[in-house]
Amino acid sequence: MSRFFSDKYTDLEAYTPGEQPRDMQYVKLNTNESPFPPPRRAVDRAAEAAKRMHLYCDPDCTALTKAAAEYFGVGREQVLMTNGSDEILHFAFMAFCDDACPAIFPDITYGFYPVFADLELIPVRRIPLREDFTVDPALYMENKGTIFLANPNANTGIALSRKEIGEILDANPDHVVVIDEAYGDFGAESVIPLTKSRDNLLVTRTFSKGWSMAGARLGVGIGSPGLMADLNTVKYSTDPYNVNSMTQAAGIGALEAAEEIRENCARIVENRRWTWEQLSRRGFTLTDSAANFVFARHEKRRGQELYEGLKERGVLVRHFSAKRISDYIRITIGSREQMERLMRELDGLLAEEPAAE
Ligand SMILES: *Cc1c(COP(=O)(O)O)cnc(C)c1O
Repeated sequence: MSRFFSDKYTDLEAYTPGEQPRDMQYVKLNTNESPFPPPRRAVDRAAEAAKRMHLYCDPDCTALTKAAAEYFGVGREQVLMTNGSDEILHFAFMAFCDDACPAIFPDITYGFYPVFADLELIPVRRIPLREDFTVDPALYMENKGTIFLANPNANTGIALSRKEIGEILDANPDHVVVIDEAYGDFGAESVIPLTKSRDNLLVTRTFSKGWSMAGARLGVGIGSPGLMADLNTVKYSTDPYNVNSMTQAAGIGALEAAEEIRENCARIVENRRWTWEQLSRRGFTLTDSAANFVFARHEKRRGQELYEGLKERGVLVRHFSAKRISDYIRITIGSREQMERLMRELDGLLAEEPAAE
């Protein structure tokens, strides 16, 4: 930190993204990317758009917004496209939180929420998950703040039902509830239909996980026209050109290939079931994940040890040092070949003596 860095950021702890090592070819199961390449149409359209990169992109993302609204079955005035869903989440912290309206989220959830709150100097209230890592909806009734819930939840993969989220919305009519559906393409119930009847619901989605476009940076917010107008004010006050022209084009191409994406996600769900079974047989306890990862703890091996042992063997998974979850590793669901490789490496690792305490 230089002596010029603003005092307001002395305590700011930046978000730590999952590692993207370049030193060797790993089987990358650590950042919940898709193992499948992007649809051909997305690549072709992006390449075509690149020829016009000397011009500013469309700040309204007109064509992409129309295609996304049709895909999600909502009105165009309900949709805002952003530079990854991290950006729409950041906008939501800016637009809907302040000293009088803290950000409320679970103790175990997406690690970017506390960072956005700190960056925007917003007070935070953390609500503990139950012992089994489920969200207790009863603790989110009549909260005097803006609620952020990842559904399925980050790191645990556990999802609330649409009915449970509807009850949270009903109990907080004067506050915004943000439902982060980054992992919404892998079987959980979406609450997007509820955006038509509620003015306090913002749903965020990403093209990074199920849609094979993590590197293109595309996210979307879906909510009532009133909320979207506020978020647009924030967007036009930070970067009107937040989604570049190649990414806008790629997004349109991906939505045209929605059927291919749906098949890819179905394969992930099938591989998740297979992985869940294989890990159970090897002494792991797993949460009931509806996401493109599993969250698992071994009866005899600590999370850090599994993470390090697998890395030495060329397989990257994610380990978090937060106390409640430090026994766990999070494993992205990849292709079947990748998951079979993981099992082979695990078998080798588990056959060795455990590391000394
Ligand atoms: C991955 C992820 C995001 C952000 O993804 P982007 O790449 O910025 O779209 C947001 N929320 C959760 C819970 C995530 O796991």
